[in-house]
Amino acid sequence: MSEFDVAIVGAGPAGSTAAIALHESGLRVALIDKAVFPRDKTCGDALSPDVVNQLGMLPLDTAQLFDQMDEKIWCKAVRFVSPDYSKADVSLNNTGLLGYVSPRLDFDAFMFNQAIQSDCVTAFLGESVKKIVHEENRINIELENGENISASIVLGADGAHSVVARSLSDERPDKNHHCAGLRQYYENVTGFSDDNAVELHFYNELLPGYFWVFPLPGNRANVGLGMLSSVVAKRKPNLKKLLKEIIETHPNVKDRFAHAKPLEEIKGFGLPLGSKKRKLSGNRYLLLGDAASLINPLSGEGIGNAIRSGRVAADHVIEAFIQQSFDAKFNKAYDNEIYRRMWGELRLNYWVQRIMRNERLCNFIVKRAISNSFIQELIMSGFSASSLKSRIFGDGKIKQ
Ligand SMILES: Cc1cc2nc3c(=O)[nH]c(=O)nc-3n(C[C@H](O)[C@H](O)[C@H](O)COP(=O)(O)OP(=O)(O)OC[C@H]3O[C@@H](n4cnc5c(N)ncnc54)[C@H](O)[C@@H]3O)c2cc1C
Repeated sequence: MSEFDVAIVGAGPAGSTAAIALHESGLRVALIDKAVFPRDKTCGDALSPDVVNQLGMLPLDTAQLFDQMDEKIWCKAVRFVSPDYSKADVSLNNTGLLGYVSPRLDFDAFMFNQAIQSDCVTAFLGESVKKIVHEENRINIELENGENISASIVLGADGAHSVVARSLSDERPDKNHHCAGLRQYYENVTGFSDDNAVELHFYNELLPGYFWVFPLPGNRANVGLGMLSSVVAKRKPNLKKLLKEIIETHPNVKDRFAHAKPLEEIKGFGLPLGSKKRKLSGNRYLLLGDAASLINPLSGEGIGNAIRSGRVAADHVIEAFIQQSFDAKFNKAYDNEIYRRMWGELRLNYWVQRIMRNERLCNFIVKRAISNSFIQELIMSGFSASSLKSRIFGDGKIKQ
């Protein structure tokens, strides 16, 4: 049995961030992942300005090193295409903000490498967590290879199918607050804008979900779609077929794929949306990122909140060791802090998502966005740390 103070299950953006933020805590941290990095993660790969903002708040020169990382492409705009093909380009030019698109293979490896810079972090890779048992004063974690790790507190950062959540919490996925997503990498897609806009195409058959085309380095593109799981359950579409049909036959995009080549089979993964408040902690555990269902219900963006939850969890854990309190009552402060920082935005974006279910309203919103800066900010609030967020939720500064 290896003994630690903190065990983090999952070394994606949420778990790696928690480990990075704990680096000067003096606590012994086990960072466990079933994968070996670099590893892929099905995703749109879009890193909103909020992600860049979050990296700037991490130690170990994380923001500066991210700046030097080659495997990313900057993007200065978001393009919204409505069901009637109206197009609104919302530029980041006047905001001083920049977004990126970076394959998760590279971005997550970067975050993991930052996490293991710290002496206090021991990584356990390549073995899935099989079982988690809460004993009197410890959490015991059994890996697939039979190895055992024990800790005073466990952080569940193990994504949408979290074994930590399944083992220690009563919360279960809710299809009304969940989205199905598909991704396929392509090369030679044409027609990207000069400012490398990430494009969201709100076609009728997907509402309030969308088809996306995001530029990637090396003449590649991340292409995919997302649809609410409740809509999938009702209409029972063949999502892979739908993605293929849009690419091959949709009048608004097919010409851009005329010489394009898929680089992989279509991959699918779920998105637990943050449109409903959940219990995020209990005795000796906290849930982070997708395990805590913190994905923006409009944009499907979850990396920013995963990183934010990693930072909040690290602060909470340090306080827990100072107070020597690990029970559900003490950990409730973590839930409160997460929702204090995120609920306003999640709720606003859920509200916009509900409006976008209606084709006519969706057309109206995108048309108005062409000329109306408030509408631009409203729909952009799902995609970046725009000034709307600070106007509505904060004090003029980018949200913490
Ligand atoms: C199709 C799709 C498109 C998306 N597009 C975007 C986008 O463009 N921008 C954006 O911001 N967000 C996007 N998201 C959401 C984003 O991918 C997630 O919000 C983000 O990955 C959450 O990070 P995380 O660290 O919580 O979980 P993850 O990134 O899922 O990391 C979890 C880690 O836990 C490990 N793990 C899981 N189970 C175990 C186990 N039993 N034992 C040990 N380790 C385990 C996994 O190997 C993994 O490394 C998209 C999601 C999908 C599905």
